[in-house]
Amino acid sequence: MPHYEFRCRTCDDTFEVSRPMAESSAPADCPAGHADTVKLLSAVAVGGTSSAAAAPAPARAMGGGGGCCGGGGCG
Ligand SMILES: [Zn+2]
Repeated sequence: MPHYEFRCRTCDDTFEVSRPMAESSAPADCPAGHADTVKLLSAVAVGGTSSAAAAPAPARAMGGGGGCCGGGGCG
């Protein structure tokens, strides 16, 4: 079961809650009983490392610069 990290804005404490993903966005009370909490987007420790390496798209010059029909001189 994944862990979700919350932060209490009342006592400025952070705590973890383990809950099913279906309830990941449900509000959680802090251990001190405060309801004013926000979910942090960090720790989800369910194994598996995802390397999000975006391959750079090759910049290709498209046409142009050629002789004919470039500046409307021919045709
Ligand atoms: Zn609290």
